[in-house]
Amino acid sequence: MNSPTNTTLPQRRTCGPSASERVQEPLAKGMRSSKIQDRHRERLAIVYVRQSTPQQVQERTESRIRQYDLAAHAVALGWAADRVVVIDEDQGSSGQSADHRAGFKRLLAEVTMDHVGLVLGLEMSRLARSSKDWHHLLELCAVFGTLLGDQDGVYSPTDTNDRLLLGLKGTMSEFEAVTMRNRLDRGKWNKAQRGELFIAVPHGYVRAADGRVMLDPDEQVQTAVRLIFYTFAEKGSVYGTLHTLVRNGVTLGIRASHGTRLGELQWRRPNLSTLFRVLHHPMYAGAYVYGRQTVDRKRPRDANGRSVSRRVPRSEWAVLIREQVPAYITWEQYEANQNRLLQNQCRADKTGVARSGSALLSGILVCGTCGRRMQTHYRHTHRPFYFCVRHLEQAREQVCRGVAGVPLDELVVRQVMTALEPAAIELSLRVIEDGRREREQLDTHWRKRVERARYDAGRAERQYAAVEPENRLVARTLEQRWEEALKATRQVEEEYDRFVRQTPPELPANERERIVALSTDIPALWNAVGATNADRKEIIRGLVERVVIQVHADSEAVDATIHWQGGFTSQHEILRPVATYKQLRDNDRLRARVVELQGKGTTAAEIARTLTREGFTPPRRCNPFSKEQVWQLLVRFGLTRKRDVETLNQDEWWLSKLASELKVPLLRLRDWVRKGWVHGRQTPHQKLWIAWADADELDRLRRLAAVSVHGASSYPPELTTPNRKPR
Ligand SMILES: [Zn+2]
Repeated sequence: MNSPTNTTLPQRRTCGPSASERVQEPLAKGMRSSKIQDRHRERLAIVYVRQSTPQQVQERTESRIRQYDLAAHAVALGWAADRVVVIDEDQGSSGQSADHRAGFKRLLAEVTMDHVGLVLGLEMSRLARSSKDWHHLLELCAVFGTLLGDQDGVYSPTDTNDRLLLGLKGTMSEFEAVTMRNRLDRGKWNKAQRGELFIAVPHGYVRAADGRVMLDPDEQVQTAVRLIFYTFAEKGSVYGTLHTLVRNGVTLGIRASHGTRLGELQWRRPNLSTLFRVLHHPMYAGAYVYGRQTVDRKRPRDANGRSVSRRVPRSEWAVLIREQVPAYITWEQYEANQNRLLQNQCRADKTGVARSGSALLSGILVCGTCGRRMQTHYRHTHRPFYFCVRHLEQAREQVCRGVAGVPLDELVVRQVMTALEPAAIELSLRVIEDGRREREQLDTHWRKRVERARYDAGRAERQYAAVEPENRLVARTLEQRWEEALKATRQVEEEYDRFVRQTPPELPANERERIVALSTDIPALWNAVGATNADRKEIIRGLVERVVIQVHADSEAVDATIHWQGGFTSQHEILRPVATYKQLRDNDRLRARVVELQGKGTTAAEIARTLTREGFTPPRRCNPFSKEQVWQLLVRFGLTRKRDVETLNQDEWWLSKLASELKVPLLRLRDWVRKGWVHGRQTPHQKLWIAWADADELDRLRRLAAVSVHGASSYPPELTTPNRKPR
């Protein structure tokens, strides 16, 4: 009786014969190989396809076809067609380590999950670009008993001889790659030393058929380039140059460096980066330079897996040959420009590190209109202000608006502190707990599916075993059904493995305790005596990835979206100081309330207090309503006349003016008016005091003031009786 483990699955040839024939010959050794056993064939055969650059993907079609043919060959080696998986995600991704190659990572994952019987690739050792990756794959394949195969044969990493061979192949492949790169580099280097290696020429230059570099034959292109240098010399800044060029409608002629329109002129609006490139490039001064940039190995590769380069200081340039190409400016002018750019740079605030300024969100605040990182500016009051520099960078009209720093900072700090409150932490932990429960349910579901598939396979086996051997036709059908059930089981088991791998593990108990402890530690650190702004910024950055704000021109409301670390976002709104009442959200309500209070005969000071109590704020938001602001409002609404000099009659004084004239406190003078010692009247709406004093009166009041300085308990009546006021 057959047991499930040594069942040979039917060999189906689904791929075209021409494809499989092409690689059949070199793999013939593998076919005969006794290394391939049923336990290998039960598992997947993975064909790993890769081409290092997109160009190679386009050009080396032949090699790619050969790689895909390996799928057909896996079938020829005894794998069912639906058990052959082609991994080709890494097409066109270069890079010498596995960090950015999703396909290679997936290959390793499948091997570690014990799903793979054979890994096939064209020139196996080149499959992993670095020796380190290759040995890693080798180790894993040895542990899980996975075979490796290429056009030369099939190898078992557990076999000593094979392993030696595989190791050698890896080493040789890497050696070959390094030698080739060195040879290429040496060739390039020799050419560069002669000043003849041009990878690309900057705009304003073209390369002739014989490799020589010359000025762009188009006069207008040349003029535009000269205009950049001329304007920079005049304005002294790149921003100033950009704005001038844009204002005057200057466009730069750029020649397409690739594609179907190669070499064709395109007229583009200048932008900052182009101007910087032109001003920094020594070629415009006629110099040939090689090695202005180098790969920065300390920095991780970017999101596309490309290495990051850094500028090399001039003293370290590998090659600098002056007067090698036609020039737009002199070398002295170039030097002067570099100095100027360096001086300008000192003002730029670009670094992403947390600094000691009081604006807590600098570096993580993003403009919601254009997506740029917002800059921080400390105004004359030392209060931070966040603003977007898009209009400066692109020399366009300003559409993105800035916002005062304090209300926004306060909002984010409040949210961060709320997130760290024990109740919030508890809630988060409960969400994790819920996630765990959900995972458990899914896990049960998966296990049931696996169980069910195994049961089906078992039943198919029993049915097959029960049939009489004479009844061949039935037996064959049942055998086929049994094989299919086994295959289905295997597939469900593999999917279950992937599920287990993909769902996050649950939180260990000590992690949980640590999280709870942090919820008290961080606020304590925040409020610690020695905590600096830089510390606080680090705390915020620990929790908040970025904050996106959308400022609306006609409203005081600002939408703020906090993107928390871990992917969660929350929406908020803050009110910003605005310039006019019209921008206030509750302007109508404010107006109605002022009209209502004024109608009741309430004084301006009282209205101001009431408005403040009811939560109204004036546009600038910096302080509560003052009496003066209420007057302004009353004037604006046409409820009172302006306080102006025309309302004063002859010899009349505003009380404050008279007080300063007599050098007595205002309150004392008002007291005298109330006592009837001075003639006075009140304005009808604002109830301001106006006093009357002609020259004689002034003389009397001066004497009265002189007596009052000494704090007299009683005053002579001639000093306290006002003169008759003329009608
Ligand atoms: Zn913007």
